[in-house]
Amino acid sequence: MAEASRSDTTTNKTPTLRGQGLLASQELYQYILETSVYPREPEPLKEIREATADHPWGIIATTPEGGQFMALLLKLIHAKKTIEIGVFTGYSVLLTALVLPEHGKITAIDPDREAYEIGLPIIRKAGVEHKIDFINSLALPILDNMLQDPKSEGSYDFAYVDADKENYINYHERLMKLVKVGGLIVYDNTLWCGTVAYSESSLSNTCKLPEMVLSKVEFVKELNKVLAADSRIQMTQLPVGDGVTICMRLY
Ligand code: SAH
Ligand code: CA
Repeated sequence: MAEASRSDTTTNKTPTLRGQGLLASQELYQYILETSVYPREPEPLKEIREATADHPWGIIATTPEGGQFMALLLKLIHAKKTIEIGVFTGYSVLLTALVLPEHGKITAIDPDREAYEIGLPIIRKAGVEHKIDFINSLALPILDNMLQDPKSEGSYDFAYVDADKENYINYHERLMKLVKVGGLIVYDNTLWCGTVAYSESSLSNTCKLPEMVLSKVEFVKELNKVLAADSRIQMTQLPVGDGVTICMRLY
């Protein structure tokens, strides 16, 4: 999500949702998009972004600058086999499919097939549908199923988690088995519109943030604590998009 305000508990400004990610100004955000992101955004991704813009939940799609960053990570590690949790209309799954080699495979899980179908014709036209195994389901039972097969363990190069925040810690435990040593797990929305840093009173005094955002702050804060304390990973948290945490499995 890119809708965060930078809020602030110190200035007592009421947080609102604005389309500039976590950056201080809309102008700076536009500058980054127009200088470094849009000119390099592959045409099919632009098409999915535009097809998603009118969706009532369009704002939850992966941001183009977040997507560009993810594409770089995928290339750096020469990813071939990935997992995606939370597909929506397909921006991040398409960017992954465009980066993966011809024989690459993405296991993409989301219970909302209808949203995926918005992006599917564009994915087909881009000629990369064969790399995507879309599973129309909640993710947790699928990950548990995958773990039943010993061949799945440690077989994935990369995982992108962009779904229900209350389950991120559950996903982490499973992905730490499915992703290989040296592989990456990327969590999206880990700064949650900046709300992770709000004081209790600032959170309870604001009615400008949707209930959906407010109700999940504690889950994101707990995830951040758990990841920071996990010695099995090398990690970093960056204010790209709505906050992205990148974890490399060390053992
Ligand atoms: N990565 C997407 C955005 C994902 S939005 C993009 O680039 O556009 C979050 C998605 O998580 C929604 O599509 C929602 O249906 C999905 N989701 C919610 N709960 C889920 C669960 N338990 N398992 C898998 N997906 C889930
Ligand atoms: Ca997201």
